[in-house]
Amino acid sequence: MTPLKNITWLIDLDNTLHNASYAIFPALHSNMNAYMAQLLGDGEKPADNATVDAARTLYWEKYGATLLGLIKHHNVKPAEFLDLTHQLDPLPGMMRFEPGLANLLRRLPGRKILFTNAPRKYSQQVVRQLGLHRHFDQHISIESMHVHGQLRPKPSRWLLKKWLARKRLMASQCVLIEDSLQNLKSAKQCGMKTVWVTQYAKYATKNSKSSLGSGRPIFIDIKIHSVKQLPSQLFRLTYPI
Ligand SMILES: [Mg+2]
Repeated sequence: MTPLKNITWLIDLDNTLHNASYAIFPALHSNMNAYMAQLLGDGEKPADNATVDAARTLYWEKYGATLLGLIKHHNVKPAEFLDLTHQLDPLPGMMRFEPGLANLLRRLPGRKILFTNAPRKYSQQVVRQLGLHRHFDQHISIESMHVHGQLRPKPSRWLLKKWLARKRLMASQCVLIEDSLQNLKSAKQCGMKTVWVTQYAKYATKNSKSSLGSGRPIFIDIKIHSVKQLPSQLFRLTYPI
């Protein structure tokens, strides 16, 4: 058995530690739509909503992230896109989260890594608002999610495998805590343990919604409503030698 203190926790941010769907995601989507309408327009007029929606859906389904499609097909610079779309002001008023998260991280044994597809500047601000900036050993944001020079955010298995090799960690010693079933499935395929946090998933993808009421997908080790329930469920993580 791997002692709990030797576990590395990879912890997602949006809709795992706070309710990003309350105001942040709607604002991000609106910023993203405005950016894409300009990009897909004819140089004078922005593209209409239907064109933007079709492109967004296509890229999401084909590449797992709208940004990857924009890079591939429109030479969009990731830093510029992330900067423009993540201008959220004032951020504190847009946030909703449970109290007691710092206490949870303090009580959780092992190494804690923030592992988010969001850009660094935004995630640092959110983590500071949550009062968690001193509780993570490392902060992995989308800027550092490259494999062979290509941007490979979650749910990329290449990303997870590269990270494990670089850190010289066994997948079985790592646990991903997330709201996204896609990301959790990839982690499990790489050999990691998985914790699914569902309280904000009602706002999330169709896949997440369809599994909410029907128990737990086979690639999920622990299903909890709130991340604060994790300490009481740690006994479920059994580690073969
Ligand atoms: Mg998330």
